[in-house]
Amino acid sequence: MATLQAPVTPQVTGFLSKPRKMLINNQWVESVSGKTFPVYNPATGEEMAQVAQGEARDVELAVKAARNAFDKGPWRLMTAAHRARLIWKLADLLEANLEEFAMLESLDNGKPLTVARAADVPLAVELFRYMGGWTTKLEGHTIPLSVPYTPGAQYLAYTQREPVGVVAQIIPWNFPLLMAAWKLGPALACGCCVILKPAEQTPLSALRLGELIVEAGFPPGVVNIVPGYGDAGAALAAHPDVDKVAFTGSTEVGRLVLQAASGNLKKVSLELGGKSPNVVFKDADLSTAIDGAASAIFFNHGQCCCAGSRLFVEQSIFDEVVEGVAERARKIRIRPGLDPECDMGPLVSQEQLDRVCGFLASGNAEGAKAVTGGARSGTQGYFVEPTVLVGAPESAKVVQEEIFGPVVTAMSFKDADDLLTRANESVYGLAAGIWTSDIGKAHRLAASLRAGTVWINCYNIFDAALPFGGYKQSGWGREMGHEALELYTETKSVCVRM
Ligand code: NAP
Ligand code: MG
Repeated sequence: MATLQAPVTPQVTGFLSKPRKMLINNQWVESVSGKTFPVYNPATGEEMAQVAQGEARDVELAVKAARNAFDKGPWRLMTAAHRARLIWKLADLLEANLEEFAMLESLDNGKPLTVARAADVPLAVELFRYMGGWTTKLEGHTIPLSVPYTPGAQYLAYTQREPVGVVAQIIPWNFPLLMAAWKLGPALACGCCVILKPAEQTPLSALRLGELIVEAGFPPGVVNIVPGYGDAGAALAAHPDVDKVAFTGSTEVGRLVLQAASGNLKKVSLELGGKSPNVVFKDADLSTAIDGAASAIFFNHGQCCCAGSRLFVEQSIFDEVVEGVAERARKIRIRPGLDPECDMGPLVSQEQLDRVCGFLASGNAEGAKAVTGGARSGTQGYFVEPTVLVGAPESAKVVQEEIFGPVVTAMSFKDADDLLTRANESVYGLAAGIWTSDIGKAHRLAASLRAGTVWINCYNIFDAALPFGGYKQSGWGREMGHEALELYTETKSVCVRM
């Protein structure tokens, strides 16, 4: 196995040194087939760990464990306060191991260690804390009835919120730990039992989190973690004993999940792709807007479902803003994630490298010009130059499709009406950005944009309390905030004749 090329703590080296197993019923077990799969360091392309490969038969065991824990286990009978304490304990353990998680995340995904340390891990900790607080606040209502066909009868009617049951959660590789937290936090707060499937590219932090889940004292079967490929996800999405599937990833696979879920009509929530418009008006504070436009696309190497990948700039300042963003792009230091000087690491995989380079080639063929970037960076690892494209026709693939890499397409607009039509001209509706000093204009535009999140004079601001999710083909449902609880509860109406 290859060396890791940077100082790594003994905990991390230890974690990577033996094949990682899967978590079923609080036991670490090998896959039924005995198969494992390799995990690569995206900075070098070299293998750095082996992980148990979950398949349909493993999914079967994990669903059985979750079902049993939900139907018979102590989890549902536990007081809400007890559940809260377990979730908070998990948050505390995660915080205590912040450095190890940041390092694992950086190694596995390629993102800068500095970013994992400042954003990914602390956000996951806060998410668990926030959601832990909800366990004791899942209240129903009492409802006055006036049933017309039983005159004189008196009723007491109330609703209660109950966990939806056994939940399959399928997550992607762009924020491996944070996506696990977004999924697990609300599900556990609501009293569900979970089978989590991390992405094949980045299973490590979820598996380490599994160790903390056991350490925190969650009962067996409440959280099961089955790493593997898409077939494991497909088996979960189709499983008749799963009550709900929550998916984050591509719109294409989201559709497959939806079809698979139709067998038992399990509940479905989807957080899918985006092609988010980021709009700079000429009355904006330009230096802030340029910094913001650059970070909207280059943060996490553009591997964000909400990346500001369509940059709309008011005509008279187009050249200045494009040059400003290109200037910022040229200063980005491309290094392995663990390098303290890294601003941008590698993309997550060879597949993503090929995909993004394919988009660069198609942009070129369709008439786009790279003001900066436009190619792979180096020959080892999966690095791509931060790229600013101009001149692409609006029908071009680079304007229409999610690239999921550090590539922004800049376009100019005449006025707010012209802008609004074009900004909304996408099958996606996840996020949008607006940069202006005219706050009235900003609010009017925010109200008209078909997007689940609108950032005004900022971008990529996430908080455990702020709902996130998509309009149109960007998904179904909202994660985070109290809206996430809707995803994991059923409402029961109880009616008593007195
Ligand atoms: P993906 O295929 O949608 O993967 C997301 C998750 O779904 C992974 O855990 C994956 O497992 C699993 N999966 C794959 N096939 C499945 C199936 N038939 N049923 C159930 N689950 C299945 O995403 P990707 O291939 O890694 O990336 C492709 C593109 O998706 C990206 O370029 C980007 O455009 C988009 N994407 C969006 C997001 C987002 O946050 N919205 C995140 C990641 C990617 P495996 O990992 O084992 O395949
Ligand atoms: Mg895939």
